[in-house]
Amino acid sequence: MLILFDIDGTLLRTQRMGVLAVGDAGRELFGAEFREDLVDYAGGLDPVLFRKVLTAHDLPCETAHIDQLRAAYGRHLQRRLATPGKTHALPGVAELIDALRPHQHITLGLLTGNFPETGAAKIAAAGLNIEHFHVRVWGCDSPHEAALREHLPPVAVERYRDLRGADLDFAHITIIGDTIHDVRCAKAHGCRALAVATGGHDRALLEASGADLVADDLSDTEVILEWLINAAPVGAVATKTEPRP
Ligand SMILES: [Mg+2]
Repeated sequence: MLILFDIDGTLLRTQRMGVLAVGDAGRELFGAEFREDLVDYAGGLDPVLFRKVLTAHDLPCETAHIDQLRAAYGRHLQRRLATPGKTHALPGVAELIDALRPHQHITLGLLTGNFPETGAAKIAAAGLNIEHFHVRVWGCDSPHEAALREHLPPVAVERYRDLRGADLDFAHITIIGDTIHDVRCAKAHGCRALAVATGGHDRALLEASGADLVADDLSDTEVILEWLINAAPVGAVATKTEPRP
């Protein structure tokens, strides 16, 4: 069994440090008029978001320009993440990871729109340990030209196979995320989706998205753990984490 966590709004909150760092990087490279608020970042893949934000400024977005923005973004993000008290693991996250780790048949992983270096920086800033996530799939890992989040679960299966030497059915993957894009990416492959209303999208939107379970947050460790491990049927969860009707 593989459990894949999204990062922003799911494992942690950076108080928009990522978005602000895109603005810092853009202004450094392209001038004071650059604005970071022209695109919707929720659930997106960083290389795609960078292309969108460059296009919104009529700037060229060839790979070289994306790489340039990525490098500057990484520097500004590191600086912003160093501000004490701004980046936090979300409620219940550390406890849930600790509760899952002893289960030998469960592999923990990441499926995120972040680049590897900036995703790792956010995880460290939140006081979490990236070494607990053995399968890591990043925003730049789509093998297709027009990258989509939906391209990432098959990459996770490949990495799982490399790690464990065994095949994994999509039905044995759970994707945990804070946006409808996380849910769609899971459902596109028949993975289970646990949507958590701690980030980009509110509970009503997540409930309408087809998630198998919607939780206000991950703080009810026992209930979430039970659902994750036993694929609890609808109705077997507590009031705080209402299943989809
Ligand atoms: Mg997210």
